[in-house]
Amino acid sequence: KAATRDFSPEYELGKGAFGAVYKAVLSDGSVVAVKRLFPNEQNVADFLKEMVLISGIKHRNLVLLKGCCVRDKKRMLVYEYAENRNLAQALWGEDRPFDLTWEQRLNICVGIARGLSYLHEELQPKIIHRDIKPQNILLDKDWNAKIADFGLARPVVEDATQRATHVGGTLGYFSPEYATLGILSDKLDVYSYGVLVLEIISGRRCINLRSPVEEEVYLRTWAFRLYVENKLLDLAAKDLVTGSNREQVLSVLRTALLCLQEDPSKRPAMSQVVSMLTGSTQVAIDI
Ligand code: ADP
Ligand code: MG
Ligand code: MG
Repeated sequence: KAATRDFSPEYELGKGAFGAVYKAVLSDGSVVAVKRLFPNEQNVADFLKEMVLISGIKHRNLVLLKGCCVRDKKRMLVYEYAENRNLAQALWGEDRPFDLTWEQRLNICVGIARGLSYLHEELQPKIIHRDIKPQNILLDKDWNAKIADFGLARPVVEDATQRATHVGGTLGYFSPEYATLGILSDKLDVYSYGVLVLEIISGRRCINLRSPVEEEVYLRTWAFRLYVENKLLDLAAKDLVTGSNREQVLSVLRTALLCLQEDPSKRPAMSQVVSMLTGSTQVAIDI
């Protein structure tokens, strides 16, 4: 399929360390997002992993890979286009069209949970994403969440303790056991999801970490959890609760707290998170 010939900056949707993403129109008129790789060996390996891992995966909350091609020696992945860009832009972008409503926020939390639950619980071997954060969550025209950027994602084998050779990801969204020991499991994504939910619900950045020192990360992550516990009611009372949604807001915040527990085995599975958020399971912890 012929992607556009023109990769000019005005069509640029985003840029990362490994390449840039452009809006493009295919010969049949459909709009897509093309992720084009800067050529370099490490990039190529990650790029191929991203391609292999998500080709053939189809779920309404995971961005769809429509194809891939090489043009002028540049490798490209062609994705379905997400009209409303990424969640960081929607939460705190200067040019965001409006503030997301409570219903939209809740729908986004549920959508991400469904996408992760599919990766963790329906696939064999399961896939962990490893880089869940607002910039990697895309929003379609109806503000539904689509998980994107599988550059760090890995398959994990059940019941084996896998360790990362390199702790890649984003500071602040790391779980303590991943930051300190490199332990790879689906519970890493559950933790990052907990941080993300707090950001989605509060509309504030919870994370402002810069230090690459692992010990530091661990301490700050722990401090962050305490901060959350202390501030939760405060936050809910001041900013979010409009009266009729009080119970729902608190229930979502409790679910996020469960996801942020230090002991990974205590964190819920993502399918349980979906049940908690959609109200089919009561979330029983005191905050
Ligand atoms: P990287 O691996 O470089 O972080 P991503 O896949 O996360 O690349 O894409 C970078 C940015 O490009 C995203 O944060 C988003 O803003 C934009 N983007 C990526 N894919 C799409 C898409 N399918 N539709 C719209 N925007 C996209
Ligand atoms: Mg990204
Ligand atoms: Mg990436």
